[in-house]
Amino acid sequence: MRKTIIAGNWKMNHTGEQVKSVLTELVADVALGVKPEVVVAPVFPYLETAVQLTQGTAVHIAAQNMHFEESGAYTGEVSPSMLVDIGVEYVIIGHSERRTYFNETDETVNLKVKAALAHDLIPIMCCGETLQQREQGEMQRFIEGQIEAGLAGISKEEVENIVIAYEPIWAIGTGKTATVEQAQEVCALIRRKLEALYDIKTADKISILYGGSVKSGNVGELTSSLDIDGGLVGGASLKADEFTKIITTAVVK
Ligand code: PEP
Repeated sequence: MRKTIIAGNWKMNHTGEQVKSVLTELVADVALGVKPEVVVAPVFPYLETAVQLTQGTAVHIAAQNMHFEESGAYTGEVSPSMLVDIGVEYVIIGHSERRTYFNETDETVNLKVKAALAHDLIPIMCCGETLQQREQGEMQRFIEGQIEAGLAGISKEEVENIVIAYEPIWAIGTGKTATVEQAQEVCALIRRKLEALYDIKTADKISILYGGSVKSGNVGELTSSLDIDGGLVGGASLKADEFTKIITTAVVK
């Protein structure tokens, strides 16, 4: 059965001291053996410290991005093997903020997903439509296109190691959560697309998360839905107490 995952995307927040104090509080609050898989994504400079602080605990560490090349003249970038070298397990790929502000495309997302898989990193591949696309009736075509392009050339065996996050752009950091019906509808649509690209058994094994103003007050309802297997949480993951509430309130089906 697929995993329920609660992943915190800290974005460009928290200094080294804050990373240490929030993670120390979090590992103390979240019991080893807690039901959802817990993932936290701090900024690059503190990843190694984060890995050390969470070793042997329920918390797994993710990077927020990476390059697809192994090494070379790519100023400012970090490679998959560098992440593996310091013990990072997950990597967020193609977050809408990276697509919007850093020109990430479906093609670079695909290259990064493939590179992550080749290094045994678990990619959390993000997709999501703008409000304009939703209002113009283009949501389905757009999401299906992002899934198909992001997974191009990825085999049935490989895709089972991918996590997908559906994050409607209009719900990220806005306090506007998609309704449970809207989130479930798109997560189901993504699963049907996976079924069409692979098969029903494979589609059933892939965790699909919802992201967009998830908090302790709505995570229970969201994760009760058939096709929502957890959350990618931004703002509400920055404080250990609220993130712990989200983790313990999430429904593991
Ligand atoms: C995110 O950044 O992935 C996100 C969902 O942010 P927030 O929870 O703050 O909307």
